[in-house]
Amino acid sequence: MAHYDYDLFVIGAGSGGVRAARMSASFGARVAIAEERYLGGTCVNVGCVPKKLFVYGAHFAEDFEDAAGYGWQGNGAQFDWPTLRDNKTREIERLNGIYRGLLTNAGVEILEARAVLEDAHTIRVAGSTVTARDILVATGSWPSVPDFPGRDATITSNEAFYLPEFPDRVLILGGGYIAVEFAGIFAGLGADVTLAYRGELFLRGFDEGIRRFVLDEMTTKGVTVATSKRIESIEHADGTKRCRFDDGTSLDVDLVLVATGRRPASTGLGLEAAGVALAENGAVVVDDAYRTNVPNIYAIGDVIDRMQLTPVAIAEGMCIAHNLFRGEERRINYANVPTAIFCQPNIGTVGPTEEEARQRYANLVVYESAFKPMKHTLSGRPERTLMKLLVNADDDRVVAAHMCGPEAGEIIQGLSVAITAGATKADFDATIGIHPTAAEEFVTMRDVTR
Ligand code: NDP
Repeated sequence: MAHYDYDLFVIGAGSGGVRAARMSASFGARVAIAEERYLGGTCVNVGCVPKKLFVYGAHFAEDFEDAAGYGWQGNGAQFDWPTLRDNKTREIERLNGIYRGLLTNAGVEILEARAVLEDAHTIRVAGSTVTARDILVATGSWPSVPDFPGRDATITSNEAFYLPEFPDRVLILGGGYIAVEFAGIFAGLGADVTLAYRGELFLRGFDEGIRRFVLDEMTTKGVTVATSKRIESIEHADGTKRCRFDDGTSLDVDLVLVATGRRPASTGLGLEAAGVALAENGAVVVDDAYRTNVPNIYAIGDVIDRMQLTPVAIAEGMCIAHNLFRGEERRINYANVPTAIFCQPNIGTVGPTEEEARQRYANLVVYESAFKPMKHTLSGRPERTLMKLLVNADDDRVVAAHMCGPEAGEIIQGLSVAITAGATKADFDATIGIHPTAAEEFVTMRDVTR
């Protein structure tokens, strides 16, 4: 039997790679992980974690205003960007240390350098060459910026977390997760925000009722959402960026954030040398056990471009470890993966959109409720909450829950257990609500809306 330096060599210490490496090592495998940038990957460093901290920060603007209706006088709070930015960075550095500890304590060797495959079992890393029985590519994704004159004057979410100064006027290009989340962050922190989206309604792929509702809410909160608008060029002079659009209009801003998707990070890794097949968009092609066309090379997470979500990458990492070093044959069920968008208010969703569900189920019943959250009876804020339950009337199963409102992610996470377990509308009806909460609405919807 061939002797290798490692049983598993993981490239990329993001959410998926770290989980696969730790679990594999805990099962007794000899594991190394290579990371050229930061431990914890996108999620910890320039994604979910710092984003959520910024979302909390942004929400205080409304909290201070809302406090007046509850008798709190004299809100003179001033926002200081360097404080938020630098406190966030300190927290990220703490988490980097925790990731290092998790890997080291599990017995994983950390190599802080770029790893490049020389062939299917040989990796060049930090000036030397090592061999591994199995290789896992978990290199994630990288912001993709379309080509147009002046694109060098833009930033991506990577830089948004480290801005030297907070901008007064911001243009956000794109209409996906990152665009709407950062629109809420910048607006909450006091910037004048315009979001320009190329289509008619942003958040394509989400439930249409939710998309329209979020559009209304964001607009009410002061974000300008411009649709059917494409950037043509940006001229940059004296700090101001003059953005010209395909409809002949222009807009002067201080910062342009491009959030037009993320590409699998698969170049420069020697995947070609190892014979690994890539899709047209650069995604590593894998089967349902994350095996590439080269039998000992696997890939998980954003680089396979199935669902660019941290918990999905972690689940894939767990799956790999169990399959490789526990002799199991695990597979992941991608149906009903819940997700949240931390725009303001949040979106939480599990299961198909109403449009998809209508295609799938002949007898779909929709329960819908839109209401003013109790908190805003005294605050006077015009914010509303929307909740939807989709039920297949043929077997009474609840097939989806969608929500736009405070803590939607927290609420939908719980409901996703019920939906994954196959709960029926009768089960929801038999569940006693917790009063007074917004979440109780999901178990007290009695009247069919459609
Ligand atoms: P998304 O894929 O969510 O959205 C990309 C947006 O950019 C779409 O609105 C798309 O429009 C638009 N777009 C794409 N190409 C162009 C172009 N050439 N010109 C103009 N517009 C364009 O990507 P994001 O960058 O927002 O986020 C990447 C991924 O990261 C997400 O898909 C998600 O999986 C993950 N993520 C998850 C978060 C969470 O869980 N809360 C938070 C942030 C990111 P169109 O709809 O017309 O294609």
